[in-house]
Amino acid sequence: MYTVSFHAAEGTDNHSSASSNSGAKGSAKSISKKKKYKTESGAMKAMWNWLNANKGSVNYFSPHSMPQTFTDSNELPYEGTKTETDFYRTAKWLRLRTTAFEQFGNRCACCGATPDTGAVLHVDHIKPRSKYPHLALELDNLQILCEACNMGKLNVSETQWR
Ligand SMILES: [Zn+2]
Repeated sequence: MYTVSFHAAEGTDNHSSASSNSGAKGSAKSISKKKKYKTESGAMKAMWNWLNANKGSVNYFSPHSMPQTFTDSNELPYEGTKTETDFYRTAKWLRLRTTAFEQFGNRCACCGATPDTGAVLHVDHIKPRSKYPHLALELDNLQILCEACNMGKLNVSETQWR
């Protein structure tokens, strides 16, 4: 079980819809709440959304690590699923994506796989968006990778293959 406690800076908790059973002992004015999640990604998603919507901090208790405190969604080891989807749907990104394929060709910059050989090609951020959001729409920061190479890379490597 993953537990997150949310601590809103006074008067900024917009999440009035959240119902918490564990807040019974707190005073009515308490602006902290605690929630439990079955999955790590569920907890991450909740913290991401909350930190984007509120000012304050969250404490994260996981069975796998020491308790952690986050005050900004950028500190989370996670890129919000929703934000992710939204970004890849923006007209700016879709235009840039096409430009990247035109510029770099329809093949994996790492292993050379092409759609002809069954590869699914992705436009990859060399420097990950999670760490370098300002480079998200820079053509120079893009490369074409096949799904296998892209998965292998994750956000750990910042190797420029092309
Ligand atoms: Zn590849």
